[in-house]
Amino acid sequence: MSAYESASHYFQTAAGVMDLSPNMQKLLLTPEREVKVQVAMKMDNGDIATFVGFRMQHNSARGPMKGGLRFHHEVDADEVLALASLMTWKTAVVDIPYGGAKGGISVDPRSLSGNELELMTRKFVDELQDVIGPDKDIPAPDMGTNAQVMAWIVNQYEKFHGFNPAIVTGKPLELHGADGREEATGRGVGLLTEALLGKFDRTASESTIAIQGFGNVGSWAADYLHSAGARVVAISDISGAFYDSKGIHIPAAIAYVREHGTLKGFETEKMITNEELLELEVDVLIPAALGGVLTKENAGNVRASYIVEAANGPVDPEADDILQSKEIIVLPDILANAGGVTVSYFEWVQNQQYFKWDLDRTRNELSKKLTAAFDKMWSIATEKHISLRSAAYLIGIGRVGRATVLAGI
Ligand code: NAD
Repeated sequence: MSAYESASHYFQTAAGVMDLSPNMQKLLLTPEREVKVQVAMKMDNGDIATFVGFRMQHNSARGPMKGGLRFHHEVDADEVLALASLMTWKTAVVDIPYGGAKGGISVDPRSLSGNELELMTRKFVDELQDVIGPDKDIPAPDMGTNAQVMAWIVNQYEKFHGFNPAIVTGKPLELHGADGREEATGRGVGLLTEALLGKFDRTASESTIAIQGFGNVGSWAADYLHSAGARVVAISDISGAFYDSKGIHIPAAIAYVREHGTLKGFETEKMITNEELLELEVDVLIPAALGGVLTKENAGNVRASYIVEAANGPVDPEADDILQSKEIIVLPDILANAGGVTVSYFEWVQNQQYFKWDLDRTRNELSKKLTAAFDKMWSIATEKHISLRSAAYLIGIGRVGRATVLAGI
C-alpha cells in the first residue's frame, strides 16, 4: 500500500464513523495544488545535476498551509502528498490556525557538499517563491533538512519579497528562530507518552522504551523520557540498533552523535538490527525514523504494549488492524508528533509580532496545546469505542469540514 493510500484509508475509516458524504470526502481529500519543479544546477566538479522537487498544498480551509521540507532519496509525489494531507489533520487536531502542505527534493543530502546543498536549496526557493509565503504556505525542517537549510530559504525568499522571517519556521535563533523549536517534536512525543501511560496508571519511570531513529525527533524524545526516569533499552539510526538491558545513557549517546554525526561505534551491550528493535519486549515502542516500518509482515511480532508514532506514517493500515487485534494501543502520528508544528506556530506568531517568548513560556504553551488535544482524543475514543487514530481523525476532519462549509464552497 502506498503512503497516500494509507493516509486516505485512515481518513476514510474516520469519515465512515462520521457519516461524511462521498462528495465532502472527495473535497477534503483532493489537494488544492500540486507543484513539481526541476532543480538544475552545476555541481562542484562542473557536472550538471537535475533534481526533482515537490510542494504539495493539500488544504487551506483553516489558514495558511504548513508543513516540512524533506531532502531524502525516497521522496516522491505520492509520499509528499500523503504527508501534506497528514499536516491538514494534524494542525486541526492541535487547533492551530493552519492548513496542510509538504515538500521535498528527491536527493540524498549526504551525497552533496555544503556548497551544493546550499545552491540546491536556493534554486528550489527560486522555483517556489511565488507559491509560498507567511500567509500562504510556510515550510519547516523535516528529514534531511535543518535550521541551516531554513536560514538559506529565508535569505533567498527575502531577495524576492524583502524582510520576511515568518516565511519558514525552525530557523536558527540568530535569524528569528524560537527557543524550544528544535526540541519540540521529541518533547511532545515524551509528554504524550507520559499522558498515555498515565491513562493506564503507569509512569515513564517504571517503563522500558525502544526508539527507532536518533535524529531530531528520536534523540529529543529519548532525552525527555530518560530525564523522566524511563529505561530506554534500545535506540537506532541508519547504522543499526543499540541495545542495553540496563538502559542506554542517553546524554552520552547524544554527545556521541554530536561528535561523530552517527551512532556507529557507540559502545553498548549488544548490537541488533533495526527490524529486531521493532519486535523487542518493551512497554513503549517509538518509531521515529521512516514511514511504513510496521507492515502486515512484522506487526504480528510486535511485543510492545504501546506504540507512539513519532515518525509520520510508521504503521500501515494492515499492520494497524493486526496491532488492534493484539490490543496494542497506538498513539497516532497526527497527534504524537504534532509538538513540532505547534512550536512552529509559536515561532510564526513571534515573527509576526516581533516579540520573543522565553523557553518556559514555549514549553508551557506546548504542554497546554498537546494535553488539550490528547484529552479530547481520549474522550472521543472512549465515548465512541473507536481507536485513538480514528478519534484524532474525527477531530481533525470535523474542524476542517466545518471551516470549509462555513466559508462557503
Ligand atoms: P532526522 O533526519 O533528524 O533523523 C532521522 C533518523 O532516522 C536518523 O537517526 C537516521 O539515521 C534514521 N534513519 C534513517 N533511515 C533509517 C532506516 N532505514 N532505519 C533506521 N533509522 C533510519 O529526521 P527527524 O526530523 O528526526 O524526522 C524523523 C521522523 O519524524 C520523520 O518521519 C519525520 O517526518 C517525522 N517528523 C519530524 C518532525 C520534526 O520536527 N523534525 C516533526 C513531525 C514529524
